[in-house]
Amino acid sequence: MAANISLFTLDLGFQGKEKAIASYLIPHAQGGILIECGPGSTQETLQSQLGEHHMSVEDISDVLLTHIHLDHAGAAGWLANKGARIHVHHIGAPHMINPERLLDSAQRIYGDQMDSLWGTFLPVPEKKISVLHDGDEIEIGDHIFRAVDTPGHAYHHMAYLWEDICFSGDVGGVRISTPGPKHLRIPMPPPSLHLQKWRTSIRKLQKIQFSSIACTHFGIFPDVEWHLKAVLREIEAAEIWIQETMSEDVSLESLREEFVSWAMKRSVSSGMKETWLTSYEKANPSAMSADGLFRYWKKHIQGN
Ligand SMILES: [Zn+2]
Repeated sequence: MAANISLFTLDLGFQGKEKAIASYLIPHAQGGILIECGPGSTQETLQSQLGEHHMSVEDISDVLLTHIHLDHAGAAGWLANKGARIHVHHIGAPHMINPERLLDSAQRIYGDQMDSLWGTFLPVPEKKISVLHDGDEIEIGDHIFRAVDTPGHAYHHMAYLWEDICFSGDVGGVRISTPGPKHLRIPMPPPSLHLQKWRTSIRKLQKIQFSSIACTHFGIFPDVEWHLKAVLREIEAAEIWIQETMSEDVSLESLREEFVSWAMKRSVSSGMKETWLTSYEKANPSAMSADGLFRYWKKHIQGN
């Protein structure tokens, strides 16, 4: 990274937890750029975090969303109303303008926890949307970002290259910068999880040169080679697990239970401390990954 360029990690303190959801701030001559903006429920924290960098929400000129899941994109409509342009994958863009279906499906998953988890989701006015395709370059002031189409966690996922950093959203997994052993999990929510596409996306990233990877959940890591291999390892482990577990006719409820305990055992055996496990679970609830795997198996593996 050039010496006169800065990048700040904003901790949105999601659900009172440290290092669960990040937004990344890059100041420029006319304001600031955010990579990810977090959910509506952490707007106030975002505002106060910007204040620490002598900025207000109105100073944000651009928000680059890796994908439209609520924990990454929920506050985008609010920022757009304050003046920001919202850059988003072409498949995700229509749902930011008309979020009814997105919110309906979230409502089915989260039920009465919807508001306390995610807060308000405002639609993004169409004129504030910048629609992205693979390889698109985004020029903001002196900064250039390149969008890399990276499906797998979701169909509508972009990673962003800037300077020597890759902002990996969720395709790069969940890895919380903590002291102690390295640990990485992959978040596998329904409905558009696709493990084979995910693997292809990681191979695509492995062919690109960058020297750090910035995870939304949570932090910036210099060991790119280890990191991307760890994502591939987790994809493979999930494939083997679902194949073995679904060979008998398992209900979603018992699959959830089995997955949660499998994921917990994997984390504990890797040396992860309990206090950080709760941050992992806030950022990426294991039960949700079980739901994603269940649906993926029914849709893409069973019968093939
Ligand atoms: Zn996501």
